[in-house]
Amino acid sequence: MKHLHSGKVRDLYETDDGLLLMVASDRISAFDYVLEPGIPDKGEILTRLSLWWFDQLKDVVPNHVVSADVPAEFAGRGVLVRRLRMVPVECVARGYLTGSGLVDYRREGVVSGVPLPPGLTDGSRLPEPIFTPSTKAPMGEHDEPMTFEQVVAAVGPDVAERLRRITLDVYARGAEIALERGIILADTKIELGWDAEGELTLGDEVLTPDSSRFWPLDLWEPGHAQPSFDKQYVRDWLLSPESGWDRTSGEAPPPLPDEIVERTRKRYVEAFERLTGRPFRR
Ligand code: ATP
Ligand code: MG
Repeated sequence: MKHLHSGKVRDLYETDDGLLLMVASDRISAFDYVLEPGIPDKGEILTRLSLWWFDQLKDVVPNHVVSADVPAEFAGRGVLVRRLRMVPVECVARGYLTGSGLVDYRREGVVSGVPLPPGLTDGSRLPEPIFTPSTKAPMGEHDEPMTFEQVVAAVGPDVAERLRRITLDVYARGAEIALERGIILADTKIELGWDAEGELTLGDEVLTPDSSRFWPLDLWEPGHAQPSFDKQYVRDWLLSPESGWDRTSGEAPPPLPDEIVERTRKRYVEAFERLTGRPFRR
C-alpha cells in the first residue's frame, strides 16, 4: 500500500483497488499540537465510534465507509473508505456556546458571522443550533472562523447551503441520540467531500470526542467550563498552572503526565460506552 498522508491523528494509505485505508493512531492533538505521549486505545475508540455513528446517520447523509475488514495489523483502528475530494471547509455546528465560539462571542457578539443574543455565558444553550464553519488550515496553522459569505465565495451558494443543511442535520440527529443517553452534544465538526459520482459525502471521523464536545447532562450548568467526555480535559490541563505551559509562548506543550493520560483514556472509553451502549472491551 502506498502511504499518502499523515495528519495529526490519522494515517492514510491507498490500496491497490483505489480505496483509502484510514488508520486512526493513538495520537492526540490540542491547540494544533500533537501531544506526547498518545492515549492508549484512542485510535480504536475513535474508529469504532465513528463506524457506529455513520450507521446512525446513513439516512441523513451518505458516507465514505466501505468496510472495517482490514489487514490484521490495522484491526480495530483501520477502515477502508472511498476517496473523496474534500471540501475546503471545516463544517461546524454548535448548539451550546463555549471554546473559540465563546471567545468570538465575547469579543464581537457573533460567531462565524452569526449574531447571537446578549447575556450568553460559557455553556449556554443557543436559541437554535448554528452553522459556524472554519477554514481547513494546513498542518501547523490554526483554523480561522469563516462567515457564511466566505463559504459562498469558496464553494458557491448552492454547495454552501447544502453544507449548512447537512451539518445542522448531522448535529440534530447526533444531539438527539446523545441526549437519550444523558449526554449533551455541545458542538461538532464534520468534513464533507465529493465522491466519484459527484455526491456530497460524509468523510473523516464523525461525532467522536476528538471532533465534538460531549457533556454529561446531569452536571450541565452554564456559567463556567463544563465537565466533559472529550479532549477538553487535556486542553484544561494544558492551560492550568500545573502544566507550566504558556500557550502564547510559541513553544510545544510539555508531555502529559501518566495520570492525565489515564483519565483522558477513561473519558474516551466512557463516551464510547455511553453512546453506543456497548462495552469497549468484552
Ligand atoms: P491535517 O491532515 O491537515 O493534518 P488533521 O490533523 O485533522 O488535518 P487527520 O484527522 O489526522 O488530519 O487525518 C485525516 C485526513 O484525511 C484529513 O486531512 C481529512 O480531510 C482526510 N480525509 C478524511 N476522509 C477522507 C476521504 N474519504 N478521502 C480523502 N481524504 C479524507
Ligand atoms: Mg482530523
